[in-house]
Amino acid sequence: MTTRRATCSCGQLVLTAEGEPIRISICHCLACQQRTGSAYGVQARFPRGAVRIEGRSTQYVRTADSGHQVTFNFCPECGSTVYYQLDQLPDAIAVPVGAFADPSFPPPTISIYEARRHAWAGVPERAEHHD
Ligand SMILES: [Zn+2]
Ligand SMILES: [Zn+2]
Repeated sequence: MTTRRATCSCGQLVLTAEGEPIRISICHCLACQQRTGSAYGVQARFPRGAVRIEGRSTQYVRTADSGHQVTFNFCPECGSTVYYQLDQLPDAIAVPVGAFADPSFPPPTISIYEARRHAWAGVPERAEHHD
């Protein structure tokens, strides 16, 4: 089985995921832009049981447009978000794909909040598209 390792910038907070993600998405929403400091967020969702976490993290809770809460876990030393949880999906953990630092990571299959997409930002053609 594939094992992948995601870390923060400084390496203090480490997440290990076994097996393939159950969903990989690219999100163009403004909150993802502000969280990542980039023009969009890309994240992979894993079953909670497939994930192991080591290191210290600080939590930030944000209420999404849907009204649900999202809890972000970031490294208190360097600030990188390494994983987050959606309150309506307690059995899943989402991991920002950049934390894997792996250009061969599988591409997103769903693209959301395209209404907020930077005009130059391409998305994989075969992805499912949502405004
Ligand atoms: Zn760190
Ligand atoms: Zn988003």
